Amino acid sequence: MTRWIILLAVFCTTIHAQSCPTIVSRSQWGGRNPTCRSRLSTPVPNAIIHHTAGDFCNSQSTCSTQVRNIQNYHMNTQKWCDIGYNFLVGEDGRVYEGRGWTTTGAHARSYNNKSIGISFIGSFTNRAPNSAALNAARQLIACGVPRNFIRSNYVLKGHRNVNPTSCPGNSLYKVIQGWPHFKASLSSYNCISVYFFRPFSALSLYPGVMIRWLILLLVLWAAENALGCPSIVSRSQWAARRSSCTTKLSTPVPGVIIHHTAGAFCSNKNSCSTQMRNIQHFHMNTRKWCDIGYNFLIGEDGTVYEGRGWTTQGAHAKSYNQNIGICFMGTFTNRAPNSAALRAARSLINCGVARNYIRRDYRLRGHRNVNPTSCPGNSLYNVIRGWPQFKA
Ligand SMILES: [Zn+2]
Ligand SMILES: [Zn+2]
Repeated sequence: MTRWIILLAVFCTTIHAQSCPTIVSRSQWGGRNPTCRSRLSTPVPNAIIHHTAGDFCNSQSTCSTQVRNIQNYHMNTQKWCDIGYNFLVGEDGRVYEGRGWTTTGAHARSYNNKSIGISFIGSFTNRAPNSAALNAARQLIACGVPRNFIRSNYVLKGHRNVNPTSCPGNSLYKVIQGWPHFKASLSSYNCISVYFFRPFSALSLYPGVMIRWLILLLVLWAAENALGCPSIVSRSQWAARRSSCTTKLSTPVPGVIIHHTAGAFCSNKNSCSTQMRNIQHFHMNTRKWCDIGYNFLIGEDGTVYEGRGWTTQGAHAKSYNQNIGICFMGTFTNRAPNSAALRAARSLINCGVARNYIRRDYRLRGHRNVNPTSCPGNSLYNVIRGWPQFKA
């Protein structure tokens, strides 16, 4: 039932979005044939608003006379192929077809081949067009978008925004400034969005666009490297006890040492937080240490849990505690940690390097490389031997 209501809503929305205003055709207003014609490349990126700066009209007959007069003026006096505008709008609430959706107009120098020119019939310096005319123009633009004559991210401008003119008159200009997509000039945001994101909106595979994709990927990659730290569950989030440790690490540290807890696995925030509290309890109560021993722990929920953190010295590898100790929660003798956990650990190391807690030329080792132990388990040890900067 719900599905049908949604379908109906989508259907109605689609119909509504595509409803177009009544357009009085050239033959209906008695238009002359154009003497030349150049095809507009659609969808166009701009809609440009004009006024005719002449007489008002409020019926199909007076508006048709106006449109014929304007056509005569443009063709006879200005020597153009046809009436200049793509569409005209009368205060009878009707749209009059000029050059239409697919023929390049003559209405705004340097913008004719990348815009639809819509002109309100009348002089709108001291008063705005009536609401019938305004609605008709907005409906016309809204109709051009789903029909792919106008880009969905089009920019709406007044003629004065692109050429030195007072058109479309102060009063009309004030109105269109409040309309959707109005921009007096191309803002830097728009510039970025056009440059980087528009290529993703279509099947754009020509070389210029490929280069933009590469630039975008490069920017993302650089940002990832500079700031890409994994989210870390803080001590308060896993309900840690207070640490009484006082020895600070000398950062950036020279290396990273990988461990496993050799205990239970955990794969969600709840069970991993419980593990954290259990390990801390064991280290503080039984071992009598000042806090949980490791700097960070990793769960198979793919999350990093804060132990002593980046700046406090840990208790995880005798004589090697001046390094960062990262411990995977679980026993990884017969199987390696899942990929989410492995990814989190590598991302944590990269983050430490980017933030200067770990030296760029750090040395990565397993616990067994520095103390007599089987930690971090054969399977995990085999994995880290393939990681960057590993040295036994
Ligand atoms: Zn104009
Ligand atoms: Zn260990």
